[in-house]
Amino acid sequence: MKVAKFGGTSLASAEQIQKISAIVTSDPERKLVVVSAPGKRDADDTKVTDLLIETAKARLTNKDGQAELDRVVERYAAIVRDLGLPDTALEPIAADFNERLSMSTEDEELFMDTMKAGGEDNSARVVAEFLRESGFEAHYLNPGDAGMILSDEPGNARVLQQSFGKLREIKDRPGITIFPGFFGYSTAGKIVTFPRGGSDITGAVLAAAVDAEVYENFTDVDSVFVANPSLVENPVAVDEITYREMRELSYAGFSVFHDEALEPVFHAGIPVVVKNTNNPQAPGTRIVPERAIGERPIVGIAATDGFSSIYISKYLMNREVGFGRRLLEIFEDEGIPFEHTPSGIDNMSVIVRDAFFNSATEERVLRRVRTELQVDELSVERGLALVMIVGEGMHHTVGLAARACIAFSRSAVNLEMINQGSSEVSMMFGIKATAIPQAVRSLYHEFFEH
Ligand code: ASP
Repeated sequence: MKVAKFGGTSLASAEQIQKISAIVTSDPERKLVVVSAPGKRDADDTKVTDLLIETAKARLTNKDGQAELDRVVERYAAIVRDLGLPDTALEPIAADFNERLSMSTEDEELFMDTMKAGGEDNSARVVAEFLRESGFEAHYLNPGDAGMILSDEPGNARVLQQSFGKLREIKDRPGITIFPGFFGYSTAGKIVTFPRGGSDITGAVLAAAVDAEVYENFTDVDSVFVANPSLVENPVAVDEITYREMRELSYAGFSVFHDEALEPVFHAGIPVVVKNTNNPQAPGTRIVPERAIGERPIVGIAATDGFSSIYISKYLMNREVGFGRRLLEIFEDEGIPFEHTPSGIDNMSVIVRDAFFNSATEERVLRRVRTELQVDELSVERGLALVMIVGEGMHHTVGLAARACIAFSRSAVNLEMINQGSSEVSMMFGIKATAIPQAVRSLYHEFFEH
């Protein structure tokens, strides 16, 4: 059995849903289908999930949210009409959205998640109905009935281990099961959503639960590319990549997958294929447990901004047992996850994401470091980016750091940090965020244009 997940652009219009139907019904193994909410039809369009968030926000700020909700219902009305479904098909969808909008807003997070979940829930109903109208046996399955039990963390839920047993029963269901992505239920029966982009997680959880032969992730590109196509013209496509490589690239801004999505399939050893709904004949990119290392040691280059570095130095730091723990404890108390801690004999830097480090937190952290740790020097550098080169072949190849550094020097990119060693499959460089384009282009030239 194959699990096929379709992203937002694959549900954006009737034409796209017809493509889903053709893809799903062309292979009898595609029995479990996960769908996102309708995404953008073109660059200026708005995703249904974003419209739903606007709707919920309107209601939470004492407006009725009706005008915002109308835009959502209009999206479904166009899809239902253009699919040629009977007029009556829209009624339950409009009723469902109105019911969500009129629920109590006392628990704001529950209200928000219930609104957001409506996007996927109704797109799954539409796809199931369209397949039935086209003569196939297809059934919508509610994640609550299926046993998709999540942690009670609204907008940021994780799947609970107890889900997997019951979800396995989906294997025995007749026909094609259409499963809405992005949400599940808490143990108390409340709707909760995964983080944004979380339909990928639903697909991966289901693939692991039913022990799928493959998890197919349909999107709108033929494959994953070795570098961001908006920075490098016509980059080389990736045919095969390991989970570890993909995980490292996602960390550094490779936006193909939700970060957490690969975890369930990784543990179950299920291969993932990224494919294009608009060109399903293209082989796509396979994400596998292991791969043969070809001629190129590097599989991808990624870069992401939004980091700051806190630099601390103290004479004889290396003799002070517990210094690192006390320093990191200050970040922990403030709820700031640290990303990296490059260190020297008498100094240490803590790299954090700006999202967790605003000016108020900065002031509190610096004050505590100064008073509690009596440091000699303390400074903050903002506007940093991390650039990574990733590849399983790295471990056995001599001279990659040298090649990367030469590429940087040729394009006058100043290196603020190098982090190599902990990971066997990546090398990480800290640079100024403004230098991302030169950095990525020069690495691409060095590793893929020779
Ligand atoms: N519709 C949700 C979002 O836009 C989830 C998803 O598409 O994966 O984030």
